[in-house]
Amino acid sequence: MSLSERVFCGELTPDDAGRRVLLAGWVDAFRDHGGLLFIHLRDRSGIIQVVFNPDVTPADVCRQAASLRAEYCIAVGGEVRQRLAGTENPNIGTGGIEVLVAELTVLSTADPLPFAISDKAMTAGAPSSGADSVAEDLRLQYRYLDLRRPAMRDNLVARHRIFQCVRQFLDSRGFVEVETPVLTASTPEGARDYLVPSRVHQQSFYALPQSPQLFKQLLMIGGMERYFQLARCFRDEDLRPNRQPEFTQLDIEASFIDEEFLYELVEELAVRMFAVGGITLSRPFPRMTWAEAMDTTGSDRPDLRFGLRFVDVTEVFSQTGYAIFRQILQRRGFIKGLNIKGQSERLSKNVLQNEYAREIAPSFGAKGMTWMRAEHGQLESNIVQFFSHGELEELRRRFDVADGDVLIMVADPSYATVTSALGQLRLHLANRLNLIPPGSFCPVWVTEFPLFEATEEGSVTSSHHPFTAPDRTDFDPRNIEELLTLRSRAYDLVMNGEELGGGSIRISDRELQRRVFAALGLGEEEVRERFGFFLRAFDFGAPPHGGLALGMDRTVSMILQTPSIREVIAFPKNRSAACPLTGAPSAVKREQLAELGLLNLGGHGVLPGTAEKENRIDRVSWVSRVGVAPEERAMMEEALMEAEELAALAAENAGEEEPAYGVAPVANRTRPGTEEKRSPLSEGGRLLKSAPAVKGGYFKVANILE
Ligand code: ASP
Repeated sequence: MSLSERVFCGELTPDDAGRRVLLAGWVDAFRDHGGLLFIHLRDRSGIIQVVFNPDVTPADVCRQAASLRAEYCIAVGGEVRQRLAGTENPNIGTGGIEVLVAELTVLSTADPLPFAISDKAMTAGAPSSGADSVAEDLRLQYRYLDLRRPAMRDNLVARHRIFQCVRQFLDSRGFVEVETPVLTASTPEGARDYLVPSRVHQQSFYALPQSPQLFKQLLMIGGMERYFQLARCFRDEDLRPNRQPEFTQLDIEASFIDEEFLYELVEELAVRMFAVGGITLSRPFPRMTWAEAMDTTGSDRPDLRFGLRFVDVTEVFSQTGYAIFRQILQRRGFIKGLNIKGQSERLSKNVLQNEYAREIAPSFGAKGMTWMRAEHGQLESNIVQFFSHGELEELRRRFDVADGDVLIMVADPSYATVTSALGQLRLHLANRLNLIPPGSFCPVWVTEFPLFEATEEGSVTSSHHPFTAPDRTDFDPRNIEELLTLRSRAYDLVMNGEELGGGSIRISDRELQRRVFAALGLGEEEVRERFGFFLRAFDFGAPPHGGLALGMDRTVSMILQTPSIREVIAFPKNRSAACPLTGAPSAVKREQLAELGLLNLGGHGVLPGTAEKENRIDRVSWVSRVGVAPEERAMMEEALMEAEELAALAAENAGEEEPAYGVAPVANRTRPGTEEKRSPLSEGGRLLKSAPAVKGGYFKVANILE
């Protein structure tokens, strides 16, 4: 039989019994029963048992079969047959049948594996080896093997289905998929750009897009009306557990629409995407203003799978005799709390006082935490005696207290501290007490974000991006106080405490855009320089428009309920933003840098060699302008390590010790414990060749601060 006749392992059914088939795939597992050889053959569709039976299978085929090992790539021809009663395997889809082999071709052999691929549970019902026991970096280094595991294959296939669902749905709603450039100029989002040097335009750089924001708006001005793209975006941000430096976002923009259009569209899309994973979301999704979300959950990504909403009890204590609360309220502070219903047995006095009040709440930024337990019709705590009967009664009423309940409260002069600390306590308690129902999905739109945030310098910056429309247009761009009261027409889609995406209605009026830039303190010159090409487009009849972007890696990961987004990306970077498979990011050759014109950027002279090993010492040598001889490298390496340790120690103690400083007198210095000896590079002046100044055979440096 030829490969063109090949059928898929997982697609055979008992109806195929008696049929001659050709299968191709990998040896997943094998068992030798004294001459009778059973193999699990795996291809993308699934697994089937193939049998080499010396009574039927030709002797040379049986001999060859004996040499098969895990992950050999093979093709087998044979007849499908029903398994004998009692020998079925309920752990695989084709467990009722097997293929009796007549022909075998070894297509390619395999080395011993770095980790097991076969899921043992499918062979014998033994506990699955799974991926959990394999270090993630090893899985990523051999990702092509990891992808052979059915779980990974299923994830990628499901991702494909979800992407197909997006394309079909948006197409049916008149959206057009358009690709925007990957080599582009910097965009206005806050995070950092990856830069790509141009060989043709020496010393000029493209930026990889953090989002197609400007282009999608230009597409609206270009009359496309409804656009989408499954766009790859890049952000060189600090490492965070569930972030990738490159990620895929579903980018959407539409003209002549308002928020309601987008809510309907995205809700319907989300319902369909989650349905691919067998999850039912009901519409309409609830909505919450940003202020309400902060007020009741302490987060702009509220997790609504469980209760524990904040209750504001500031007023209850307006006349309080309890000194700590009184002082906080004198400073116009806030007191909020939550009622953990019926949990007093699991939250003992000891846990509340020694764990939560002493350790956990302070680690979330609270200066303290007040707790009370409701028992025998009374509120009890270590400080309950400081509160009046009226205050305690009012607490009972506001928190709707019953016996067995536990109240916790956080008080602070700062609203942000109260909400943030209590919000983190809310999540901590929900996790600890298993209050989150498994398999529940609670979407919510968070709306009416502040348009601006205050900066430390007393100005404002955009909370989203400067093209987001404000809720009103009659503001004075110089009045910071007023600016901070403005709300934006932005919205985030949040699910189970995670932001799946967000967007906004954009500014389409030139004059309004000019005033927003003025509010941001951007002068006309700067605006022209940064966004000139973009703003010019608004001079030619810009339609009202808006859109949003959904993080697809995160969305797919949530639908498939994987522990990390790396499980739904074929070739992800690891937690350190590196790729264990290819070694990216990696050093490049000097010649490559030279060709790109990167050896002499900013007139700093020649950069050090970039080969990995040389890098550190060469760099210090280059920065300090002191040559380092090969035999001095080990010593330098040690000195660098010591310096790093010292710096780490200093950083740890920063804030505790007063920094000591003074100007050191000019002197020749040697490291304590080392003899003064001349470097071999000093002969012929090589040592001092790049010194800015030389005195008496020494490198002359400026006075240093010690
Ligand atoms: N460009 C925005 C982002 O990537 C999304 C949007 O406003 O449509 O977050």
